[in-house]
Amino acid sequence: MEKIIIVGAGLSGATAARLFAENGYDVTVIDKRENIGGNAYDYVDKNGFVIQPYGPHIFHTDKKEVFEFLSKFTDWRKYEHKVLAKVRKDKLVPVPFNLTALRQLFSAEKAEKIENLLREEFGDGKGISILDLIKTTNPELKEFATYVYKNIFFIYSMKQWGIKPENLDCSVMNRVPVYLTEEDRYFTDEYQFMPKDGFHEMVSNILRHPRIKLKLKTDANNVIALADGKIYVKGKEFDGTLIYTGCVDELFGYKHGVLPYRSLKFKFETKKCSSYQRAAVVNYTVSNKYTRITEFSKFTCEPKDNTVVVKEYAKPYKRNKNIPYYPIPTGKNHLTHALYEKEAKNYKNLYLLGRLATYKYINMDVAVMNAIKLYESVTGEELDLEFIKETKKGSN
Ligand code: FAD
Ligand code: UDP
Repeated sequence: MEKIIIVGAGLSGATAARLFAENGYDVTVIDKRENIGGNAYDYVDKNGFVIQPYGPHIFHTDKKEVFEFLSKFTDWRKYEHKVLAKVRKDKLVPVPFNLTALRQLFSAEKAEKIENLLREEFGDGKGISILDLIKTTNPELKEFATYVYKNIFFIYSMKQWGIKPENLDCSVMNRVPVYLTEEDRYFTDEYQFMPKDGFHEMVSNILRHPRIKLKLKTDANNVIALADGKIYVKGKEFDGTLIYTGCVDELFGYKHGVLPYRSLKFKFETKKCSSYQRAAVVNYTVSNKYTRITEFSKFTCEPKDNTVVVKEYAKPYKRNKNIPYYPIPTGKNHLTHALYEKEAKNYKNLYLLGRLATYKYINMDVAVMNAIKLYESVTGEELDLEFIKETKKGSN
């Protein structure tokens, strides 16, 4: 039987593991953490709150195939995410910035004028990128665009990335457009849900298959070595396939240089009230050292006497000291990553997958989609969802 080792039990690794296992491969998944699910991991604390220790995760996608694949492993609870930004001491406005925010921050007369100018220049279409908005040559719109840039994007991004927004790939700012409507949802995708029993339960169901072996608390660096186009496992040549979802610079001993990642520090606090803030997430776009505060009970819609919030502080990634959460999408970093991608091609049965190894700022749905695509390209078979066995609590 063909063997596959998958490094990383996050959504990328778990999805790949399940697909190959369904296809008859013997799969071993290793992860250095104590938990599966990667950064999407969650647990229920002693007070019954669903806590996401690696940061707030909300599922959303336009990809029917991804939604149907995951629906084999979880039931869903409808949840549409809303975010507010604290732009002044007592002023919370919707993010993405929309017409409601415009009217909250400017006089009725000025807001109407700006709205009309925006429509003239950008039409009534979908979201506008802040990067396009600030290029306007109309002086009145320019003043407005500069206001939004400074008060919503610039300081938040400096905190989050430690570099100016203009030095990041434009796709980063484009994740959060400016709306010429009253749209106040953070995402506009067709499918917006939370897994009914949490992300951990969903990933655990994905990995629950007789051909999948799981080894946690196992660092790939201590087990796997690459040399001269050959893969070694515990010193012996491995003739199976290796799918790697960790940091690729680490895999290759940093031979083409260090790839920077952004890490986070989370400060959890229990508050003696049933509701701490007006939205599940409040972004601190001008003040404070943290970027955002998440109130978990607002995801699960279960108000209790207390509530748990987490403040998020972004930090540089330091190997073995903290976790690499985000690749930093800049031209220079992509060039370095391309050298590692090229290096990986020297290994016939090595595939890079996931947010860290492909150095792409992807959401969970794209992580799943990319694992499906990898499975299809390696096996030459198109995914047939009918053959994926439903695995949920009580289903087997
Ligand atoms: P990861 O989840 O990072 O998993 C990689 C796994 O590999 C980890 O478990 C790690 O321990 C393991 N690993 C790494 N190196 C080694 C090694 N050497 N040996 C063994 N194991 C190793 N996406 C959304 O769709 N919606 C959201 O709301 C959302 N919010 C997010 C919030 C934050 C704070 C962050 C950081 C990400 C968020 N994402 C969100 C993105 C989401 O986390 C990723 O798209 C998804 O988790 C990627 O899965 P992955 O398996 O590629 O990577
Ligand atoms: N962003 C911002 N202000 C906000 C929200 C987002 O400047 O209020 C920028 C910031 O650079 C952030 C990026 O847009 O890193 C993407 O935001 P998103 O909410 O998608 O980030 P994530 O949830 O992935 O951390």
